[in-house]
Amino acid sequence: MLKIENLSVHYGMIQAVRDVSFEVNQGEIVSLIGANGAGKTTILRTISGLNQPSQGTITFEGQPIQKKAPRKIVAQGISQVPEGRHVFSGLTVLENLEMGAYLRKDSDTQKDYDHIYEKFPILKERLSQDASTLSGGEQQMLAMGRALMSKPRLLLLDEPSMGLAPIFIKEIFNIIQEIQKQGTTVLLIEQNAKMALSIADRGYVLETGKIVLSGTGKELLESEEVKKAYLGG
Ligand code: ATP
Repeated sequence: MLKIENLSVHYGMIQAVRDVSFEVNQGEIVSLIGANGAGKTTILRTISGLNQPSQGTITFEGQPIQKKAPRKIVAQGISQVPEGRHVFSGLTVLENLEMGAYLRKDSDTQKDYDHIYEKFPILKERLSQDASTLSGGEQQMLAMGRALMSKPRLLLLDEPSMGLAPIFIKEIFNIIQEIQKQGTTVLLIEQNAKMALSIADRGYVLETGKIVLSGTGKELLESEEVKKAYLGG
């Protein structure tokens, strides 16, 4: 579904991503794990069209997307939930969800709102509340709900567990699995390697901009290298 080939990304003289290749098959949860600064966010932003690659190709459903504008990429079926959620403050919960549907061509959105209220009942209770006054976990749910309103076939999640209490992390990861079951493919970027690999069909380990290991979620969880470097021994 998504194929990244020989991708490199620079910020001026700094090379953040080095000749990275990987793929995401339809229906999978794929986790990309790595320490701070490994290049995870840069890869997601490049898929979304927010950063330009210096080399390589990104193919989505058979079409090259690496030169497309971000809104075209959303319209084609990829939606990103950014690190730190970035909900729109000054807008209500409902208005934030409406923004997610902004690029849709169909107007048949009611059942999608209903699905989101089913998944995130707390959002339904807070529809008229300013998004910036939600708790961190609630903002994460809103950011995910907003991304789902564009009806993506591929959902990109950037560190959904960041800054959340363990109970919220568990809930968010359950919801990610539910999203997969309902047919959306997921590419997940995480520092919380244990959670990310435990729900992943497959995973990749990124170190200083390069992929150094790959395997099924289970294989990586059991790998001595992963245990030592990312799971606390
Ligand atoms: P984190 O988990 O801390 O967000 P990450 O794996 O997502 O880390 P990136 O944010 O992709 O890593 O950063 C990769 C490298 O690129 C880092 O060395 C970072 O300092 C650098 N970098 C990221 N954004 C910029 C920028 N706008 N300008 C210059 N360098 C940048």
